[in-house]
Amino acid sequence: MDLDRRSWLATFGLGAVSAAAARGARAEEAGCPPADQPLLLQDFRPRSMLHVKETRVPTPRFPVIDVHTHFTYARGGRTGAAPDNAVAFNATAKDALAVMDRKGVRAVVNLTGGFGKGLEEAIGALDRAHAGRFYTCTEPMWGAFSEPRYPQLQADAIEKAVKAGAKGLKVLKTLGLYLRERGREGPLVKVDDRRFDPMWEAAAAHHLPVYIHVADPEAFFLPIDCTNERWDELGHHPNWSFHGKDFPSFREIMEARDRVLARHPKTLFVGLHVGHDAENLPFVSESLDRFPNLTVELGARIGELGRQPRASRKFFETYQDRIFFGTDAVPPPEGESTPQQVFKDELYEIYYRFLETDDEYFDYAPAPVPPQGRWRIYGVALPDGILKKVYHENAGRLLGLKA
Ligand SMILES: [Zn+2]
Repeated sequence: MDLDRRSWLATFGLGAVSAAAARGARAEEAGCPPADQPLLLQDFRPRSMLHVKETRVPTPRFPVIDVHTHFTYARGGRTGAAPDNAVAFNATAKDALAVMDRKGVRAVVNLTGGFGKGLEEAIGALDRAHAGRFYTCTEPMWGAFSEPRYPQLQADAIEKAVKAGAKGLKVLKTLGLYLRERGREGPLVKVDDRRFDPMWEAAAAHHLPVYIHVADPEAFFLPIDCTNERWDELGHHPNWSFHGKDFPSFREIMEARDRVLARHPKTLFVGLHVGHDAENLPFVSESLDRFPNLTVELGARIGELGRQPRASRKFFETYQDRIFFGTDAVPPPEGESTPQQVFKDELYEIYYRFLETDDEYFDYAPAPVPPQGRWRIYGVALPDGILKKVYHENAGRLLGLKA
């Protein structure tokens, strides 16, 4: 044991010399602190001593449609407070296509396309310029929410977005966790607020799937203390914590979401991030059983699925027609702050390894420290039939593509 060794060395007055010697090339390279100083959690970089199979999966066994990417974003931000509705581009179509072509990604759904002029701009530069490769979605006009005519304006905006070529409606956790009665002021607006009913109904009327993401990992709703399994991640992104203040609990949000699902049975919902509760597959399964209008995608949650590979494998088997491949990819440099979703070759290879192999105990993100929590994952080795559905067949149906 290290401590014994250290005290033994100290006894012989060799501590300092040996500590320096012990900090060899390996420690140097990993950025370990000097051996005679206490080790902080943030400096801990354990390397697995398991001798297990390592499979590199550079390309997927079948073509992939990634239904969860962010190549554009609305400048208004989470509350949509900006006066214009412009979008910004995270990457050029050319750069995106280079990664897609190398990694066997046939098409991507670009969720955050904004609305109005911004949406048209995004669709022009991506969907129209490269037909069949990009499918851009519209977003609600959060900035107009406090106007009395909002419910109808929003329904009309959906119709306009469809005419402009939008392929879905993306609802960010702005709804439930950021949007307040008067924009940034007042009480939080509830997920099942009736003023959104015309929007959900307009989506159904125009066969527009709704990509919904209204709650985050369960740990984001708990205190950031030594028991929080996402302590590192919340340390890097303190504004992702929804504990305390006037935030609703995780369960309250999910119940409100379920009331929306129940009230709009003709609207098709894609519950992003494994229905926002990859930690609780029994609950997600129950939701899928209760609501035929609910489907899910995988974005940024293979870290959760891969640490419960047996339950995940069963989940894939049971719901194989209702699961879409998605990564939540954000191009660099933006994406670098969230390695579990950085749009690059390595990220796709990890997803393919997780879905296709039975490899054990590997990193779920391209990063020196597992960014969402300090654990590793196991592959689920899906059979070809299920793999094909998850990789592109289900998404092909969702997007109305011909087989
Ligand atoms: Zn996303």
